[in-house]
Amino acid sequence: MRLNKEKGVTLIALVVTIVILIILAAVSINMVLGDQGIFKKAQTAANSMYEAEVNTQASFNSITEEMEKVLGNEEIKPEGMTVVEMFKKAKEEGCDGTNCQNRAEHLHPGDYVNYTNPSSGTYVSSGTKTGMKRALQEEFSDITDEQSEQVFEVSNETKWRVLGIEEREGEEHLVLIGSPIKKNEMALSVEEEKPSFAIDPFYYLYSAESYLNCEEELDNICSIYANNLADEARSARIEDISLACGVKVEGANITHVEDGTAVEGAQSLVGQSYTLKQGEDYNIDGIISRTPVSEDTVVEGTAYMFPYASTYINDRVKDMLFAGTESDTGFSKSYWLASPGVYIYSSDAGWGPGAVSGGYAGSGGNFCSSNGSGSDDGLAVRPVVSLKSNISQNQLQRIEDQTEPTFPENPNFS
Ligand SMILES: [Zn+2]
Repeated sequence: MRLNKEKGVTLIALVVTIVILIILAAVSINMVLGDQGIFKKAQTAANSMYEAEVNTQASFNSITEEMEKVLGNEEIKPEGMTVVEMFKKAKEEGCDGTNCQNRAEHLHPGDYVNYTNPSSGTYVSSGTKTGMKRALQEEFSDITDEQSEQVFEVSNETKWRVLGIEEREGEEHLVLIGSPIKKNEMALSVEEEKPSFAIDPFYYLYSAESYLNCEEELDNICSIYANNLADEARSARIEDISLACGVKVEGANITHVEDGTAVEGAQSLVGQSYTLKQGEDYNIDGIISRTPVSEDTVVEGTAYMFPYASTYINDRVKDMLFAGTESDTGFSKSYWLASPGVYIYSSDAGWGPGAVSGGYAGSGGNFCSSNGSGSDDGLAVRPVVSLKSNISQNQLQRIEDQTEPTFPENPNFS
Protein backbone atom coordinates (compact mmCIF):
# COMPACT_ATOMS: atom_id res chain seq x y z
CA MET A 1 0.00 0.00 0.00
CA ARG A 2 2.78 2.34 0.98
CA LEU A 3 4.66 1.50 -2.21
CA ASN A 4 1.62 2.11 -4.44
CA LYS A 5 1.00 5.42 -2.77
CA GLU A 6 4.63 6.47 -3.37
CA LYS A 7 4.41 5.43 -7.06
CA GLY A 8 1.24 7.61 -7.55
CA VAL A 9 2.96 10.72 -6.18
CA THR A 10 5.93 10.18 -8.47
CA LEU A 11 3.71 10.02 -11.60
CA ILE A 12 1.93 13.27 -10.69
CA ALA A 13 5.34 14.95 -10.08
CA LEU A 14 6.47 13.75 -13.52
CA VAL A 15 3.38 15.16 -15.24
CA VAL A 16 3.76 18.48 -13.38
CA THR A 17 7.44 18.58 -14.31
CA ILE A 18 6.65 17.98 -18.00
CA VAL A 19 3.95 20.69 -17.96
CA ILE A 20 6.38 23.14 -16.35
CA LEU A 21 9.03 22.25 -18.92
CA ILE A 22 6.57 22.86 -21.77
CA ILE A 23 5.57 26.24 -20.33
CA LEU A 24 9.22 27.21 -19.84
CA ALA A 25 10.04 26.16 -23.41
CA ALA A 26 7.17 28.24 -24.77
CA VAL A 27 8.30 31.27 -22.76
CA SER A 28 11.90 30.82 -23.88
CA ILE A 29 10.97 30.48 -27.57
CA ASN A 30 8.84 33.61 -27.32
CA MET A 31 11.72 35.48 -25.65
CA VAL A 32 14.04 34.54 -28.48
CA LEU A 33 11.76 34.70 -31.52
CA GLY A 34 8.72 36.84 -30.45
CA ASP A 35 8.00 40.52 -31.20
CA GLN A 36 9.84 41.49 -28.00
CA GLY A 37 12.35 38.68 -28.48
CA ILE A 38 16.13 38.80 -28.48
CA PHE A 39 16.48 38.39 -32.26
CA LYS A 40 14.00 41.22 -32.88
CA LYS A 41 15.78 43.46 -30.39
CA ALA A 42 19.19 42.71 -31.89
CA GLN A 43 17.81 43.53 -35.33
CA THR A 44 16.35 46.86 -34.05
CA ALA A 45 19.64 47.71 -32.32
CA ALA A 46 21.55 47.04 -35.55
CA ASN A 47 19.14 49.28 -37.49
CA SER A 48 19.47 52.07 -34.92
CA MET A 49 23.25 51.83 -35.06
CA TYR A 50 23.17 52.11 -38.87
CA GLU A 51 20.82 55.14 -38.72
CA ALA A 52 23.06 56.82 -36.14
CA GLU A 53 26.10 56.29 -38.38
CA VAL A 54 24.26 57.75 -41.38
CA ASN A 55 23.14 60.76 -39.30
CA THR A 56 26.64 61.33 -37.97
CA GLN A 57 28.05 61.22 -41.50
CA ALA A 58 25.36 63.68 -42.70
CA SER A 59 26.21 66.06 -39.83
CA PHE A 60 29.90 65.88 -40.70
CA ASN A 61 29.10 66.53 -44.37
CA SER A 62 27.03 69.62 -43.60
CA ILE A 63 29.70 70.96 -41.21
CA THR A 64 32.34 70.41 -43.90
CA GLU A 65 30.12 72.16 -46.46
CA GLU A 66 29.67 75.15 -44.15
CA MET A 67 33.42 75.30 -43.51
CA GLU A 68 34.15 75.15 -47.23
CA LYS A 69 31.66 77.96 -47.86
CA VAL A 70 33.33 80.07 -45.16
CA LEU A 71 36.78 79.33 -46.57
CA GLY A 72 35.57 80.05 -50.11
CA ASN A 73 36.63 76.65 -51.48
CA GLU A 74 33.22 75.45 -52.51
CA GLU A 75 31.72 76.36 -55.83
CA ILE A 76 28.18 77.53 -54.97
CA LYS A 77 25.92 77.17 -58.00
CA PRO A 78 24.47 80.45 -59.35
CA GLU A 79 20.79 80.93 -58.44
CA GLY A 80 18.40 83.87 -58.79
CA MET A 81 19.27 87.23 -60.35
CA THR A 82 22.87 87.85 -61.37
CA VAL A 83 24.67 90.65 -59.55
CA VAL A 84 25.03 92.46 -62.91
CA GLU A 85 21.22 92.37 -63.32
CA MET A 86 20.80 93.70 -59.76
CA PHE A 87 23.22 96.57 -60.40
CA LYS A 88 21.49 97.48 -63.69
CA LYS A 89 18.01 97.27 -62.14
CA ALA A 90 18.96 99.73 -59.38
CA LYS A 91 20.38 102.09 -62.00
CA GLU A 92 17.30 101.80 -64.26
CA GLU A 93 15.04 102.55 -61.31
CA GLY A 94 17.15 105.58 -60.38
CA CYS A 95 18.14 104.19 -56.96
CA ASP A 96 21.55 105.15 -55.54
CA GLY A 97 21.10 103.06 -52.38
CA THR A 98 20.63 105.89 -49.87
CA ASN A 99 16.89 105.20 -49.52
CA CYS A 100 16.45 101.84 -51.26
CA GLN A 101 12.93 100.36 -51.44
CA ASN A 102 13.96 97.20 -53.31
CA ARG A 103 17.00 95.86 -51.48
CA ALA A 104 16.38 92.23 -52.51
CA GLU A 105 16.83 93.09 -56.21
CA HIS A 106 19.26 96.04 -56.11
CA LEU A 107 23.03 96.47 -55.88
CA HIS A 108 24.37 100.05 -55.83
CA PRO A 109 27.78 101.67 -56.24
CA GLY A 110 29.35 101.83 -52.77
CA ASP A 111 27.47 98.81 -51.30
CA TYR A 112 29.66 96.59 -49.12
CA VAL A 113 29.55 92.93 -50.20
CA ASN A 114 30.78 89.65 -48.67
CA TYR A 115 33.56 88.91 -51.18
CA THR A 116 35.82 86.48 -49.29
CA ASN A 117 39.49 87.35 -48.84
CA PRO A 118 41.67 84.32 -49.70
CA SER A 119 43.10 82.57 -46.62
CA SER A 120 46.67 83.35 -47.69
CA GLY A 121 48.80 84.92 -50.42
CA THR A 122 52.03 86.93 -50.59
CA TYR A 123 53.76 89.12 -53.17
CA VAL A 124 57.32 90.37 -52.87
CA SER A 125 57.98 93.52 -54.90
CA SER A 126 61.72 93.69 -55.60
CA GLY A 127 63.69 96.90 -55.00
CA THR A 128 64.92 96.80 -58.57
CA LYS A 129 61.37 97.04 -59.92
CA THR A 130 60.25 99.85 -57.61
CA GLY A 131 63.48 101.87 -57.75
CA MET A 132 63.70 101.38 -53.97
CA LYS A 133 67.16 99.78 -54.22
CA ARG A 134 68.53 102.64 -56.31
CA ALA A 135 66.99 105.22 -53.96
CA LEU A 136 68.44 103.50 -50.87
CA GLN A 137 71.88 103.14 -52.45
CA GLU A 138 71.96 106.90 -52.96
CA GLU A 139 71.48 107.33 -49.20
CA PHE A 140 72.94 104.24 -47.53
CA SER A 141 75.77 101.87 -48.44
CA ASP A 142 75.57 98.06 -48.67
CA ILE A 143 71.87 97.71 -49.49
CA THR A 144 70.97 94.08 -50.23
CA ASP A 145 68.12 92.93 -52.49
CA GLU A 146 66.20 91.68 -49.46
CA GLN A 147 66.50 95.02 -47.66
CA SER A 148 64.89 96.86 -50.57
CA GLU A 149 61.95 94.43 -50.93
CA GLN A 150 58.38 95.48 -50.14
CA VAL A 151 56.13 92.59 -49.14
CA PHE A 152 52.33 92.39 -49.20
CA GLU A 153 50.19 89.65 -47.64
CA VAL A 154 46.44 89.03 -47.87
CA SER A 155 44.70 90.74 -44.96
CA ASN A 156 41.33 89.77 -43.56
CA GLU A 157 40.83 93.49 -42.79
CA THR A 158 40.30 94.22 -46.50
CA LYS A 159 36.66 95.18 -47.21
CA TRP A 160 34.97 95.14 -50.63
CA ARG A 161 32.49 97.55 -52.23
CA VAL A 162 30.62 97.64 -55.51
CA LEU A 163 32.40 99.90 -58.03
CA GLY A 164 30.50 99.36 -61.30
CA ILE A 165 30.17 97.20 -64.40
CA GLU A 166 32.82 96.63 -67.03
CA GLU A 167 32.59 94.85 -70.36
CA ARG A 168 35.14 92.20 -71.23
CA GLU A 169 35.00 89.93 -74.28
CA GLY A 170 31.38 90.86 -74.95
CA GLU A 171 30.14 90.10 -71.44
CA GLU A 172 29.33 92.36 -68.49
CA HIS A 173 31.10 91.88 -65.15
CA LEU A 174 30.55 93.42 -61.74
CA VAL A 175 33.69 95.17 -60.49
CA LEU A 176 34.51 95.48 -56.77
CA ILE A 177 37.12 97.70 -55.14
CA GLY A 178 38.95 96.76 -51.93
CA SER A 179 39.83 99.11 -49.09
CA PRO A 180 43.45 100.39 -49.18
CA ILE A 181 45.95 97.65 -48.32
CA LYS A 182 49.17 97.88 -46.30
CA LYS A 183 52.68 96.59 -46.88
CA ASN A 184 54.55 94.59 -44.22
CA GLU A 185 57.36 96.17 -42.25
CA MET A 186 60.52 96.12 -44.35
CA ALA A 187 63.57 94.03 -43.52
CA LEU A 188 65.68 97.18 -43.92
CA SER A 189 67.74 97.96 -40.84
CA VAL A 190 70.20 100.83 -40.99
CA GLU A 191 71.96 102.38 -38.00
CA GLU A 192 69.85 102.04 -34.86
CA GLU A 193 66.33 102.76 -36.02
CA LYS A 194 64.37 101.87 -39.10
CA PRO A 195 63.44 104.88 -41.26
CA SER A 196 59.72 105.70 -41.35
CA PHE A 197 59.25 104.38 -44.90
CA ALA A 198 60.41 100.94 -43.70
CA ILE A 199 57.78 100.86 -40.95
CA ASP A 200 54.83 102.75 -42.49
CA PRO A 201 52.22 100.87 -44.59
CA PHE A 202 52.76 102.85 -47.80
CA TYR A 203 54.13 101.38 -51.02
CA TYR A 204 57.17 103.32 -52.24
CA LEU A 205 57.95 104.02 -55.86
CA TYR A 206 60.95 105.98 -57.12
CA SER A 207 61.91 107.84 -60.29
CA ALA A 208 61.89 106.16 -63.72
CA GLU A 209 61.14 102.71 -62.25
CA SER A 210 57.80 104.03 -60.98
CA TYR A 211 56.72 104.79 -64.54
CA LEU A 212 58.22 101.68 -66.13
CA ASN A 213 57.01 99.09 -63.58
CA CYS A 214 54.03 100.53 -61.65
CA GLU A 215 51.42 98.75 -63.72
CA GLU A 216 53.03 95.31 -63.45
CA GLU A 217 54.00 95.61 -59.79
CA LEU A 218 50.71 97.07 -58.53
CA ASP A 219 48.78 94.40 -60.45
CA ASN A 220 51.01 91.65 -59.02
CA ILE A 221 50.49 92.90 -55.45
CA CYS A 222 46.72 92.96 -55.91
CA SER A 223 46.56 89.55 -57.63
CA ILE A 224 46.86 87.94 -54.15
CA TYR A 225 43.18 88.89 -53.64
CA ALA A 226 41.73 86.64 -56.38
CA ASN A 227 39.18 84.04 -55.21
CA ASN A 228 36.83 81.61 -56.95
CA LEU A 229 34.22 84.30 -57.78
CA ALA A 230 36.68 86.48 -59.70
CA ASP A 231 38.17 86.26 -63.17
CA GLU A 232 40.97 88.57 -62.08
CA ALA A 233 42.29 90.70 -59.23
CA ARG A 234 44.38 93.72 -60.16
CA SER A 235 45.23 97.24 -59.04
CA ALA A 236 42.82 100.16 -59.35
CA ARG A 237 43.52 102.32 -62.41
CA ILE A 238 42.30 105.62 -63.75
CA GLU A 239 39.66 103.91 -65.94
CA ASP A 240 38.04 102.43 -62.80
CA ILE A 241 37.83 105.84 -61.13
CA SER A 242 36.52 107.52 -64.30
CA LEU A 243 33.85 104.81 -64.67
CA ALA A 244 32.61 105.23 -61.08
CA CYS A 245 32.70 109.04 -61.38
CA GLY A 246 30.76 109.06 -64.69
CA VAL A 247 33.71 110.60 -66.51
CA LYS A 248 34.62 109.84 -70.13
CA VAL A 249 38.08 110.48 -71.59
CA GLU A 250 38.46 110.66 -75.36
CA GLY A 251 41.75 112.08 -76.60
CA ALA A 252 42.18 115.39 -74.82
CA ASN A 253 38.45 115.71 -73.98
CA ILE A 254 37.31 114.87 -70.44
CA THR A 255 33.51 114.98 -70.20
CA HIS A 256 30.57 113.86 -68.04
CA VAL A 257 28.95 110.67 -69.39
CA GLU A 258 25.54 111.94 -68.24
CA ASP A 259 25.31 115.17 -70.25
CA GLY A 260 28.46 115.30 -72.40
CA THR A 261 29.67 118.58 -70.88
CA ALA A 262 33.33 119.17 -70.05
CA VAL A 263 34.50 118.33 -66.51
CA GLU A 264 35.48 121.62 -64.94
CA GLY A 265 39.07 121.82 -63.72
CA ALA A 266 40.19 118.71 -65.62
CA GLN A 267 43.63 118.83 -67.24
CA SER A 268 44.82 116.83 -70.21
CA LEU A 269 48.37 116.62 -71.56
CA VAL A 270 47.20 114.37 -74.41
CA GLY A 271 48.30 115.83 -77.73
CA GLN A 272 50.96 118.09 -76.23
CA SER A 273 54.62 117.39 -76.93
CA TYR A 274 58.14 118.33 -75.82
CA THR A 275 61.45 117.98 -77.64
CA LEU A 276 64.27 116.40 -75.64
CA LYS A 277 67.51 118.23 -76.45
CA GLN A 278 70.50 116.21 -77.62
CA GLY A 279 73.17 115.81 -74.92
CA GLU A 280 71.14 117.71 -72.30
CA ASP A 281 67.89 115.82 -71.70
CA TYR A 282 67.19 112.22 -70.76
CA ASN A 283 64.49 109.92 -72.08
CA ILE A 284 62.85 107.49 -69.63
CA ASP A 285 65.49 104.72 -70.02
CA GLY A 286 68.37 107.21 -70.04
CA ILE A 287 67.42 108.45 -66.57
CA ILE A 288 68.37 105.10 -64.99
CA SER A 289 71.57 104.63 -67.02
CA ARG A 290 72.43 108.39 -66.86
CA THR A 291 72.68 108.54 -70.65
CA PRO A 292 71.42 111.76 -72.32
CA VAL A 293 69.62 111.41 -75.66
CA SER A 294 71.98 111.24 -78.66
CA GLU A 295 69.70 113.33 -80.87
CA ASP A 296 66.70 115.63 -80.43
CA THR A 297 63.65 113.47 -79.60
CA VAL A 298 59.96 114.38 -79.41
CA VAL A 299 57.97 113.10 -76.40
CA GLU A 300 54.13 112.97 -76.53
CA GLY A 301 52.04 113.69 -73.44
CA THR A 302 49.54 111.04 -72.24
CA ALA A 303 48.70 112.12 -68.66
CA TYR A 304 45.40 113.63 -67.51
CA MET A 305 43.59 114.39 -64.27
CA PHE A 306 40.24 115.60 -62.98
CA PRO A 307 38.93 116.90 -59.64
CA TYR A 308 36.22 114.65 -58.16
CA ALA A 309 34.44 117.73 -56.78
CA SER A 310 33.27 118.68 -60.27
CA THR A 311 31.90 115.20 -61.09
CA TYR A 312 28.30 114.14 -60.33
CA ILE A 313 29.10 111.36 -57.83
CA ASN A 314 26.94 110.79 -54.75
CA ASP A 315 28.21 110.69 -51.15
CA ARG A 316 28.57 106.89 -51.08
CA VAL A 317 30.88 106.85 -54.12
CA LYS A 318 32.76 109.85 -52.76
CA ASP A 319 33.28 107.98 -49.47
CA MET A 320 34.37 104.81 -51.30
CA LEU A 321 36.96 106.45 -53.57
CA PHE A 322 38.10 109.70 -51.95
CA ALA A 323 37.72 109.36 -48.14
CA GLY A 324 41.13 109.79 -46.51
CA THR A 325 42.86 111.05 -49.66
CA GLU A 326 42.95 114.75 -48.75
CA SER A 327 44.67 117.04 -46.29
CA ASP A 328 41.95 116.71 -43.59
CA THR A 329 43.21 113.17 -42.86
CA GLY A 330 46.87 113.80 -43.65
CA PHE A 331 46.43 112.10 -47.07
CA SER A 332 46.40 108.82 -45.09
CA LYS A 333 44.59 106.81 -47.78
CA SER A 334 45.88 108.46 -50.96
CA TYR A 335 46.53 105.57 -53.34
CA TRP A 336 48.40 104.57 -56.48
CA LEU A 337 46.72 103.90 -59.80
CA ALA A 338 48.36 101.40 -62.17
CA SER A 339 48.18 104.09 -64.89
CA PRO A 340 51.58 105.40 -66.00
CA GLY A 341 51.56 108.64 -67.95
CA VAL A 342 53.76 111.30 -69.51
CA TYR A 343 53.52 114.91 -68.37
CA ILE A 344 54.55 117.77 -70.65
CA TYR A 345 55.77 121.06 -69.21
CA SER A 346 57.17 124.09 -71.00
CA SER A 347 60.75 123.28 -69.91
CA ASP A 348 60.76 119.48 -69.63
CA ALA A 349 58.85 116.20 -69.80
CA GLY A 350 57.96 114.07 -66.76
CA TRP A 351 57.06 110.40 -66.24
CA GLY A 352 55.27 108.65 -63.38
CA PRO A 353 52.41 106.47 -62.06
CA GLY A 354 48.81 107.58 -61.56
CA ALA A 355 47.23 108.35 -58.20
CA VAL A 356 44.16 109.52 -56.29
CA SER A 357 45.16 112.28 -53.91
CA GLY A 358 44.37 115.85 -52.89
CA GLY A 359 40.95 115.91 -54.54
CA TYR A 360 42.21 114.68 -57.91
CA ALA A 361 42.32 111.38 -59.77
CA GLY A 362 44.86 111.16 -62.53
CA SER A 363 47.16 109.10 -64.70
CA GLY A 364 50.87 109.91 -64.70
CA GLY A 365 52.82 111.99 -62.21
CA ASN A 366 56.13 113.82 -62.33
CA PHE A 367 58.39 111.24 -60.64
CA CYS A 368 61.30 111.75 -62.97
CA SER A 369 62.07 114.58 -65.32
CA SER A 370 63.85 114.80 -68.64
CA ASN A 371 66.31 117.12 -66.84
CA GLY A 372 67.46 114.10 -64.78
CA SER A 373 65.85 114.85 -61.43
CA GLY A 374 63.77 112.18 -59.69
CA SER A 375 61.52 111.86 -56.68
CA ASP A 376 59.92 109.11 -54.60
CA ASP A 377 56.58 108.75 -52.92
CA GLY A 378 54.73 106.27 -50.76
CA LEU A 379 50.97 105.74 -51.13
CA ALA A 380 48.40 103.06 -50.30
CA VAL A 381 47.53 100.27 -52.78
CA ARG A 382 43.94 99.41 -53.76
CA PRO A 383 42.92 96.09 -55.26
CA VAL A 384 40.06 95.67 -57.73
CA VAL A 385 38.36 92.40 -58.67
CA SER A 386 36.35 91.75 -61.80
CA LEU A 387 33.79 89.01 -61.06
CA LYS A 388 32.78 86.18 -63.38
CA SER A 389 29.81 87.20 -65.53
CA ASN A 390 27.32 84.65 -64.07
CA ILE A 391 27.83 85.44 -60.36
CA SER A 392 24.40 85.66 -58.74
CA GLN A 393 22.72 86.92 -55.58
CA ASN A 394 23.18 83.63 -53.67
CA GLN A 395 26.96 83.80 -54.24
CA LEU A 396 27.56 87.44 -53.28
CA GLN A 397 25.43 89.40 -50.81
CA ARG A 398 25.28 92.98 -49.62
CA ILE A 399 26.42 93.39 -46.01
CA GLU A 400 25.99 96.26 -43.59
CA ASP A 401 28.51 99.07 -43.43
CA GLN A 402 31.95 97.83 -42.50
CA THR A 403 34.86 99.22 -40.55
CA GLU A 404 37.80 99.74 -42.88
CA PRO A 405 41.47 99.51 -41.86
CA THR A 406 42.96 102.71 -40.45
CA PHE A 407 46.05 104.37 -41.91
CA PRO A 408 48.50 106.81 -40.27
CA GLU A 409 49.03 110.28 -41.71
CA ASN A 410 51.23 110.07 -44.78
CA PRO A 411 54.69 111.50 -43.97
CA ASN A 412 55.27 112.24 -47.68
CA PHE A 413 52.82 115.13 -47.54
CA SER A 414 53.98 116.74 -44.30
ZN1 LIG B 1 18.05 100.42 -54.46
